[in-house]
Amino acid sequence: MVREARRHLQSFRKLNSRLVSTTLPVSILILLLGVGALELSAFRQSTQDQKTHLEQVARMGSQLLAPAIWRFEADTIRSSLDRMAMSSDVVAVVVVTPEDDVPIAWLLTTGPEPLYGNEEALPADIDLSGYPVIREEITIDKLGNQRLGELSLYYDTAALRSEAQRRFVLMLLAGLLAAGALTTLLLGVIRQSVLQPVLALTESMRSGQAGHEYHLVEHEGRDEISSLVREYNDMLAAEAALKAEGRHRLELYEHALDNISQGFCVFDRDFRLMAFNNRYALMLGHEQDAIELGMTLSELLKVNAEHGEYGSGSIDGLIIDRLAIAAGGERYRRERERPDGTFVEIDSNPLPGGGFVSIYHDITNRKEYEKKLRHMTLADPLTQLPNRALFYDRLRQSLSTAERLGHRLALLMIDIDGFSIVNETQSRDVGDLVLREVGQRLESLCRKSDTVARFEKDIFCIVQQHLDNVDDAAFLAHRILGSFARPFETEEVALRMTASIGMTIYPDDDLSSRNVLMHASLALHAAKAEGRNRYRYFVPEMDRAVAARRRLEEDLFMALRDDQFVLHYQPKVELSSGQVVGAEALVRWQHPEQGLLAPTEFIQLAEERGLIVPLTEWILEEACRQIRVWHEAGLNLGPVSINLSPFHFQEGDVVRSITAAIEKTSVERRLLAVEVTEKALLQNSDTVANSLLSLRELGIGAGIDDFGTGYSSISSLHQFPIDTIKIDRRFVHGFGADDEASTVVRAVIFLGRKLNLRIVAEGVEEENQLRLLEKEGCTEVQGNYFSPPLPADDFALWLSERDSKPVEPAKTPEPA
Ligand code: C2E
Ligand code: CA
Ligand code: CA
Repeated sequence: MVREARRHLQSFRKLNSRLVSTTLPVSILILLLGVGALELSAFRQSTQDQKTHLEQVARMGSQLLAPAIWRFEADTIRSSLDRMAMSSDVVAVVVVTPEDDVPIAWLLTTGPEPLYGNEEALPADIDLSGYPVIREEITIDKLGNQRLGELSLYYDTAALRSEAQRRFVLMLLAGLLAAGALTTLLLGVIRQSVLQPVLALTESMRSGQAGHEYHLVEHEGRDEISSLVREYNDMLAAEAALKAEGRHRLELYEHALDNISQGFCVFDRDFRLMAFNNRYALMLGHEQDAIELGMTLSELLKVNAEHGEYGSGSIDGLIIDRLAIAAGGERYRRERERPDGTFVEIDSNPLPGGGFVSIYHDITNRKEYEKKLRHMTLADPLTQLPNRALFYDRLRQSLSTAERLGHRLALLMIDIDGFSIVNETQSRDVGDLVLREVGQRLESLCRKSDTVARFEKDIFCIVQQHLDNVDDAAFLAHRILGSFARPFETEEVALRMTASIGMTIYPDDDLSSRNVLMHASLALHAAKAEGRNRYRYFVPEMDRAVAARRRLEEDLFMALRDDQFVLHYQPKVELSSGQVVGAEALVRWQHPEQGLLAPTEFIQLAEERGLIVPLTEWILEEACRQIRVWHEAGLNLGPVSINLSPFHFQEGDVVRSITAAIEKTSVERRLLAVEVTEKALLQNSDTVANSLLSLRELGIGAGIDDFGTGYSSISSLHQFPIDTIKIDRRFVHGFGADDEASTVVRAVIFLGRKLNLRIVAEGVEEENQLRLLEKEGCTEVQGNYFSPPLPADDFALWLSERDSKPVEPAKTPEPA
């Protein structure tokens, strides 16, 4: 707007100067011409008037002269001439005869005195040819218009001319004076109404363009300049109002931006800082005035780097990186930990036309929360040590660091000896207390850089980093064993515990980091096998056992395909009648090289390798086939129970597997039963409960195996549709000799009777065990006392031989 006004103004000033430089001389010229023309016509008029007057004089003179000449009255002639000469400007009056121009009389007024001549010639020196002349005939009527002579009246126009000249000069002067006055007036007016406002406008614009205020121009009037000034002032006022509004808005924005919780900064296309808020400066810990508008991105990065914002890396590299990112014009998001431990998340967005805006969020709280959450998910809730998942992560990191830096690393696996017994014999709280205390003791023995983790149940792991000496690991192991010498104090007892430790050194033992855990575990097993309360380094021989296990694993796949499994059967004897009321099917593997393998050697492997479902399905089918064969042969046998793995409930469909086997073999359902371990029951309680319910509906009985080891409570037991509980053989072994074991056996029998279940004691080897169990009210027994598990044919033989022998009827147990 101002620029436009200024352009107008400039053209106006040009016009003005043109006006002054050209119009003025022209008007003076016009003035001159005008006055000249005026004076010329006035001069003409006066000479005309003079001539007319003199013609009159001449006419009157001729009339006077006529009688005088007629009578030759010289005096009258003279007086007539005198009278004519009295008229101003008359130079000479000459009267001559009509034909021959003989002078009659003349009068000259050219000299100082009038000169009169009568009938004589004019003096020779008088030349009248230069003067205008009026001629008049002198006639007399009396004689019929007879010409008497001719009158010539010479006159002078000089006086008139000089008068005219004088007047012309005077008029010119007056005109010039008037023009001067007019010009002065005009200039004054122009100055007042044009120049001053124009100058004021120009000055206002100059000062405005020089960065100062555009100030209002004071000028009143009705002309165009005034309206221009008014418009200019209005424009300034409008602009000022706009600016004030803009400033106000800007202040509001700034205030708002300073009060938001995010920091922000804006860079233009040349990556110069165009705007930022207080929060930004505060968030990045900048001193007042450390950053200012106009500084470049590189300069700002340098300032930040000096604060240690980017750690200790190369600043130049960082600047190159950031500039490349900024130039890329893509959205860019990153998180950064600041030197003071706070976290910021930076969200940079490109701006249309180049440049970008970055928003800084303080995410310290979120990070802390995440850390807590991670800790919660990665820490073992009991000991607060890293759990298995975190341990794996730390181990991986430590191994890669060790590999990169060529350091040694030790992995120690610590197992509390006989912890399961503590758990089984003491309350759960005691077990927890021991675990917590062990965790604390281990941690106190380790350096901060070492990782102490709870690996599983009662197994702890330690990663010792930057091992200077292999003996350092032994030294630590020694101290750990020493720390167990101090008893674990509980409210009731002081427990004396020991630990076994397996150790491996990376990369001494194996260049591949994959095996460290397995090596430590092998060493731990060795330590345990050698009698516990000791530590063992891994040695390659231990690996051979692992290799054997791996081979077995491979063989297991073949075994299923090649039908290498066999079932053995162990009888269950009812105590009250001494009758064999059923059997348990137990699987064995007829290994082509290693001979008959016990299930303890391959069931876990099958579970781990996902083979337990097909294996169990084979067992089910085989058992059903056998039961049917026996049944058809008339062998009097109750239900044969099949062991179900907890994995089968997770990975397969137990009910479908069983019904498939029944359908395939057409066996009578009541002749089949299942055993599920107490632990399986607890792990997948819903699935197991549903499956067992379906089996009950099919008429297939179910029992809980290894009861007493899984802490199931009486209240949870009744949820499961079971008809049998089997007391774990470890308790049966201790029954009578060990107080704890005896308590468990008695409690289980009591519980079973309360719930109206059959109670089977497994692993009965001795007569006295049998008697004691019978006395307690146990209903059935199973064990080597009667028969170990036998191949089908041997079992049938044993059964038929036993059937032919008379059985000693057992006493009916006392009701509990
Ligand atoms: P379990 O179900 O508790 O089986 C009883 C175990 O006790 C059998 O060991 C049996 O041979 C053994 N036993 C029986 N009487 C005596 C005795 O008087 N003294 C001693 N010391 N032991 C006795 P086995 O056959 O070696 O089976 C071990 C475990 O393997 C079984 O424990 C069961 O958990 C599992 N298992 C065996 N067969 C199968 C199967 O077909 N399927 C599944 N899933 N697991 C099976
Ligand atoms: Ca069993
Ligand atoms: Ca058992």
